[in-house]
Amino acid sequence: MIISGTELAKEIKQDVAKRVAEYKVEYGREPHLVVILVGENPASVSYVTGKAKDSAEVGFKNTTIRKPDTISEAELIELIGQLNEDRSVDGILVQLPLPKHISEEKVIEAINKEKDVDGFHPLNVASLWQKLPCLLPCTPKGIIKLLDKAGVEIAGKKAVVIGRSNIVGLPVAKLLLDRNATVTIAHSRTQNLAEVTRQADILVVAIGRAKFVTADMVGEGAAVIDVGVNRDPESGKLCGDVDFEACKDKASVITPVPGGVGPMTRACLMENTIECYLNNIKK
Ligand code: NAP
Repeated sequence: MIISGTELAKEIKQDVAKRVAEYKVEYGREPHLVVILVGENPASVSYVTGKAKDSAEVGFKNTTIRKPDTISEAELIELIGQLNEDRSVDGILVQLPLPKHISEEKVIEAINKEKDVDGFHPLNVASLWQKLPCLLPCTPKGIIKLLDKAGVEIAGKKAVVIGRSNIVGLPVAKLLLDRNATVTIAHSRTQNLAEVTRQADILVVAIGRAKFVTADMVGEGAAVIDVGVNRDPESGKLCGDVDFEACKDKASVITPVPGGVGPMTRACLMENTIECYLNNIKK
């Protein structure tokens, strides 16, 4: 079974749009998401455009602030400070990656935790690991929703996550753990990776290498979630970290790329923006 992130994301966005219409009547304004783009990296431009499109679709006010890649770290942090103070702004997102002369850590830390729609602020991360209320990072949140939608039982299952980045691998492992899976985190130093991944009932792959996971790495009947976004070196087309064609017959459920985790990340961003808006408006 192929799990369509596109379909589920559409449902989530329809629900968000309905709530926005109601909130506008109740609170007198729509949620306002501000996205900051530094430089002109084509992938970042396309992500930011997608976020603006989704915002328009659900009825948010979206402001995209474009800055040249010559902006200094201090100037960027000052801009974030102004947006933190602005009561009419509910969510702030700085599109990553940033130019090398700007510290991503400092920039993320500068965003008010309550406007941190990406869920990357250290205080949100700490809350996640302490099981306290927090804004969940969008991609891991979307992955759990995809598994739930597909009816995959998580509790008591063996989950293997390949990748241990702060934005995908680690938080998704934590969310699976919180749902009572037994979780193994694999990475570039993992020995006999295929032996580890074949044991997985749930296999989440977040590496960033085209078609890295081959059929021999997937156990019969596993649920396979492919987070990777890569270019196929042969066709030049977008592809995941999983060799979809080779693995789809072994998996019980599998996500495609494109059309799997990607749209869910964006839908969860819309949900997080609503969460920030409600906190802001009720202050
Ligand atoms: P990242 O920070 O580069 O992390 C990659 C992880 O993969 C690292 O933990 C690394 O291990 C591990 N790895 C690399 N080569 C490996 C190998 N040969 N065997 C086992 N593990 C290996 O990447 P990321 O930010 O997590 O992103 C991963 C992928 O997801 C990328 O393609 C990215 O574009 C995509 N992504 C998609 C979405 C979405 O919404 N669909 C969102 C975010 C990211 P070490 O820790 O040992 O180096």
